[in-house]
Amino acid sequence: MAANPSTRSAVSLHGLALGDAFGSQFFALANYRSFPDRTPPAGPWEWTDDTQMACCVHRVLADHGVIDQDRLAASFAARYEPHRGYGAAMVRMLPLVHGGGDWRALSAELFEGRGSWGNGAAMRVAPLGAWFADDLTEVVRQAVLSAEVTHAHPEGVAGAVAVAVAAATVATEPGLPAEGFLDRIAEHVPPGMVRDGIAEARRLLAVDDPGLAARTLGNGSRISAQDTVPFTLWVTARERHDFEAAMWTTAAVGGDIDTTCAIVGGIIASSGHADRLPAEWRRRCEPLPDWAGVPPLDR
Ligand SMILES: [Mg+2]
Repeated sequence: MAANPSTRSAVSLHGLALGDAFGSQFFALANYRSFPDRTPPAGPWEWTDDTQMACCVHRVLADHGVIDQDRLAASFAARYEPHRGYGAAMVRMLPLVHGGGDWRALSAELFEGRGSWGNGAAMRVAPLGAWFADDLTEVVRQAVLSAEVTHAHPEGVAGAVAVAVAAATVATEPGLPAEGFLDRIAEHVPPGMVRDGIAEARRLLAVDDPGLAARTLGNGSRISAQDTVPFTLWVTARERHDFEAAMWTTAAVGGDIDTTCAIVGGIIASSGHADRLPAEWRRRCEPLPDWAGVPPLDR
């Protein structure tokens, strides 16, 4: 591994933001016309809540070396920006946390006491996987901590574990074949719908049809972890050595495109190779906020 934990996490964050910002362009229906020839949408591309919350994760790691849940909850609340497209649960919860509410109680109360199984813990966690990549046990432990702050349901947590392990595996085992890549992830994900989805993604690896894969695995349109994460891992397993190709494949199937592209972008960029992020795309993308403490990439 060439890069140190902080650098790997920073590059992953850049890839996550690039995917988020790229994917968010496709909410404007007119942009779908650019699909046939894969012409990138005209800039500037603004990123969304996925990137804002991932910046919080990275910053807590940079300041404390581990996930301190109280500080992460406080950071999510302090950096809440309504125009970034947060899900309804976060729109309600984060201002309450900022006002002094107890995140443990508020997170547990969501969805009539089941806790959220949304994809929000998965969408922000790739940089954490890159950070702890040398120790998969620690990747899992820290991913769980980062998820629980907002996603108390086991599927919401499992989605974060899967994405974090995927990011770590990209960093440490770049030569794995697609099957081995998904096996490595599934080894660390607790039983449930997310893990079942990863097993299904493995069965579909030979299917050369992203639309069919997305219809089987989900594309995030239900916003749940289990409807979002398996397809992103199917794409990543097949195309993690080509950032642009993976982004187009992910966007083409629709669904929660900013989040699916953020997940795929963050995982792929966990390799630490900033030069594999397309320069023209980076020029169109909104820069990361100064408070994230991440140096800008060369433009
Ligand atoms: Mg978003």
